[in-house]
Parts: sequence; C-alpha cells; structure tokens
Amino acid sequence: MTLFHSVQLAPKDPIFGLTEAYVADQRADKVNLGVGVYYTDEGKIPLLQAVIKAEEALVAKHAPRGYIPMEGPSQYNLAVQTLLFGNDSSLIKDGRVVTAECIGGTGALRVGADFIKRLNLNAPAAISNPTWENHRGIFEAAGFDVVEYSYFDSKTRGVDFDGMVKSLESFPKNTTVVLHACCHNPTGADMTEAQWRQVIDICKSKELIPFLDMAYQGFADGIEQDGVAVRLFAQSGLSFFVSSSFSKSFSLYGERVGALSIVTESKDESARVMSQLKRVIRTNYSNPPTHGGAIATAVLTSPELRQLWEDELAQMRERIKSMREALVSKLAAAGAKQDFEFINAQRGMFSYSGLTPEQVERLQKEDGIYALSTGRICVAALNTKNIDKVATAIARVIA
Ligand code: PMP
Repeated sequence: MTLFHSVQLAPKDPIFGLTEAYVADQRADKVNLGVGVYYTDEGKIPLLQAVIKAEEALVAKHAPRGYIPMEGPSQYNLAVQTLLFGNDSSLIKDGRVVTAECIGGTGALRVGADFIKRLNLNAPAAISNPTWENHRGIFEAAGFDVVEYSYFDSKTRGVDFDGMVKSLESFPKNTTVVLHACCHNPTGADMTEAQWRQVIDICKSKELIPFLDMAYQGFADGIEQDGVAVRLFAQSGLSFFVSSSFSKSFSLYGERVGALSIVTESKDESARVMSQLKRVIRTNYSNPPTHGGAIATAVLTSPELRQLWEDELAQMRERIKSMREALVSKLAAAGAKQDFEFINAQRGMFSYSGLTPEQVERLQKEDGIYALSTGRICVAALNTKNIDKVATAIARVIA
C-alpha cells in the first residue's frame, strides 16, 4: 500500500473549474462571466497607471529585500486604516485600531479567524446565505463550526432583511458574524444605512462579533461612500474585525495585498492584541511579501498618484454601472418579458441574475457563455463587444 492510497480526489473549485472549461472552449466569441475579476472594455485585466508609476519608481530604487515586520510596514497599515476609517478617525488617533498587512483579503480573513479561534470562545462563525464560497472554507479550516444567516430574497433580488434579523437574533453569544461591507458577493445586494444600524444594535444586544469583509471598496458608489458600514461600526463602540483587500481596487490580484484591522477598546488592549496577532502570522507565513504593499503605500501616500488611482477606480466603477444599464436595456430590446431593473440596483462586480442551472448550462453549451450555476454573473466582464451576444442569448434561454 502506498502512503497516499487513501487520498481522495478533492472536488474542483467551482470558479477555477469553470475557467478551465472556458479556456478549453474553441469558440472565438466565447464569454467568461464566471470570474471575479474586473476586465476593461477590451477584455483585459487592467494594469493601472498609478500602479505603473509607483512600480517604476520602486524598481528604480533597487532597494534590498530584507524581511519586513510580521504585521507589515507601519506606513502601509496607516494608509489602510485611513481608507477604512477616514482621515479624521478618532479610533486611529486613540490607538484603537490594530492593522496587519495580510496575504490578500483571504489571508486577512484567515489570520482573523485563527486569532478569534485562539480566544477560546466556543462559538460558531456565521456566514451569509449565499456568500463567497471561501468564507465557509476559511472559517472551517480555522476550526469553526460554520452556520448561515438568511440574506437574499430571490423574489425581490434584494436583501431578505427580516430573515437576516431572525437569524442573527438566534445566534449564541460570541458568534463571529461575517458581513460583506459593500458589493455583496455573489448577489450584488447590499443593506441600507438604516439596516446596518439595526445589525449593529443586534450585534450589541446579542454580543456577536462583527467581522466585516471589505473586498470591493470603491466599486459601488465611491471610496468614502462604500466605507459607510465600517464607519457606522466605528461609531458603535463595539470591538470588531475588518478584512480588506487591494486585489480589485488596485487590480493587483496576483500580488496578494490585503490587511486585517481590529478595533479594540483601548491603546493598551491594542498592544496586547497586536502581540497575539503577530504570533498567528509568525506561525503561518512569518511576514508578508514586500512588493504589492509597497506599491499600494506609494500610491496612497502620494497626492498625485492617489488622485490618479481614484480617477482610475472611478472609471472602473462607472464602466460596470454602464454595463448594468446596457444589459437591462438590451435584454428588454431582445424581447425578455421579465423586468431586469434589479440589475441596476445591485452593486459591485456581480449580479445574481436569477438564471437557473439549466439556463446557465444552455448558455454554456449553445453560446459559449460561461456563468456560475447559481446564476451569478460578473458584470465587470461584460463589454461593448460581448454584451449584445450575452443579452440575446439570455433572452433566448429564459423565454
Ligand atoms: N472576500 C470576498 C467577498 C471576495 O469576493 C474575495 C475575492 N473574490 C475575497 C474576500 C478575497 O480577496 P483576495 O483575492 O484579496 O484574497
């Protein structure tokens, strides 16, 4: 018997599996709407001008590549805090935010999950139904029982807020509640400010641990506007977690640039929390890589590059919005009877289109259009060249 004779073949990651099928497809006009990546109108992953400029300056320096601190450079961490909590945040001034650079948003979630697990609170983690599928995997891998809270209303294609409240109120004390800070993945359905306030009240009264996942800041209404949930939690007096990522907002997917921020009660608590956070990081990967974080820091701390980045981010955001509008009107023009106005109300890169698994399969077979079987489509992968084909095909398969 061999050492690995009992090792089972793991199921393929649904998104990466779909991309493999897309790559193998020979049709010239195939379209991949299954991805979680922003593409330009030319169908390319953009390399932002702000990133190019920062990178050129970095390369010209030929700096040595020593280890950086376990929690990442302090300038990077301050830049992250300022984006999340705002320039004038009293929490930052009072030393109540602990931030560590992490390996993308995924790494931040995992470091946060490991940290909470070590508090020995003996409570589950709760994720939205549906959610980005890795939320479950990350919290299970950190040793949590993972439960779900109601989130999506398939009739209105918006948030099922009553269901969500009921779920949250049923959770035991110290349940970690993973909340999408904006641009909910996969549904595109976000809460209103009033609903966020109610969620905060429940977190307080039920003593839940809020964990905000901010992977798409700047993709809904703007950098500041998309920070509303984080700002409301910051005012609440609660301790909470935020994982954030520059994968999308800087189009730096492969550089793995993210951060974990933890809001504490006091400067003294922050010092103790940071010391334990460093232990989690040390035993996972020791310290973060240098390059991606250095680019983000250079852009965020230079007024000129920052303006350039904000303009480029606004272009991405506006292109997605224009694709939403175009899809809605082209679906109507292609004879779709259904009202697709909800696509305009959904925010960020994705839309839960309402397509059934059978319709998604037909799109793939008959048209070479790839989407997730849940009906999630990446609006950020639509462009002026593929949108007519997509709208016509969707109108046909739903007829
Ligand atoms: N959270 C959500 C909701 C996401 O959609 C993603 C990326 N798809 C992440 C976290 C992870 O981001 P990163 O690629 O930076 O690890």
